[in-house]
Amino acid sequence: MSNNWQQNSRHTLKDASSCNDFFQSQKFQDKTFPIKIPLEFAKIIDKNNPHDPLLKQVMPNVAIKTTKQDISGFSISPLEDEKNMPVAGLIHKYPNRVLLIASRVCAIHCQYCFRQNFNYGKHDALSNYPAIASYIQINPQINEVILSGGDPLSLSDEKLAQLIQKIAKIPHIKNLRIHTRSAVVTPNRITQKLIDTLTQSKLNMVLVTHVNHANELSSDFAHAIKKLNGITLLNQSVLLKGVNDNVSTLSALSMGLFELGILPYYLHLLDKVNGTQHFLVSDKNAQQLHKVLQKQLSGYLVPKLVKDENLDSKTWL
Ligand code: SF4
Repeated sequence: MSNNWQQNSRHTLKDASSCNDFFQSQKFQDKTFPIKIPLEFAKIIDKNNPHDPLLKQVMPNVAIKTTKQDISGFSISPLEDEKNMPVAGLIHKYPNRVLLIASRVCAIHCQYCFRQNFNYGKHDALSNYPAIASYIQINPQINEVILSGGDPLSLSDEKLAQLIQKIAKIPHIKNLRIHTRSAVVTPNRITQKLIDTLTQSKLNMVLVTHVNHANELSSDFAHAIKKLNGITLLNQSVLLKGVNDNVSTLSALSMGLFELGILPYYLHLLDKVNGTQHFLVSDKNAQQLHKVLQKQLSGYLVPKLVKDENLDSKTWL
């Protein structure tokens, strides 16, 4: 495996056939949301365990049919992102912050992803940046920009640095938050150039990793993330049935993250996108689990349990 993340991104399992070869299995089948698993992530999956919690996140469930019709609260676009987009590529739900769709690409395809049907072609923040900058300029109450996607770290170092520099020129923007799953699934994405960009910016920088299970915390990730000490490191997870819906797994994740200097921040309930019913943990079970977690862990290790409602609300449960 090369140290060059852009070369490694070509070493990716992208269909059922290559997955079945790699995992010596016949269980992968292609579905509408394409398979994408970087080899670095595939290699930390236990090939002998059909219930491996990392495998479950990336293997399409063919027993569940995707449909355009709403099935008991599930839909194509549960958060209705497009209703909160005053400008293409920019989501504005809360007064002080906006989210930019910085990239349509991800290093991995998480089969529970709520943006798996999102129209990225229509909403690219980079190509529409002049209009986005104008919108932010005339809204001085906005003090934070969040880069999301897709995965903003799928941009080249140069493009990302340019985007951050442009954002930093807007006087009322103080904080920049980057949401990424690349950091954990392809740790060599944390390049020296990226580290320089994040640590030398005048903006207060927050990197939010997306890790769902302690098994994802590889030694390569541990090595890479330590280099980002000095910026605020938070983690968000999605509560996924059969992956991390028990107290011991979530405790191990919080402890493992903290060892690496990352604070557990959010534990999201599943956003109900069609075809993901098998991942759903009920609100009641989630709340019970969270209560036990609060007893077992110090407060700073307990992520906030949150549920995104459509349109503009996030509920803390
Ligand atoms: S990395 Fe994030 S945006 Fe990409 S598929 Fe996974 S959850 Fe969705």
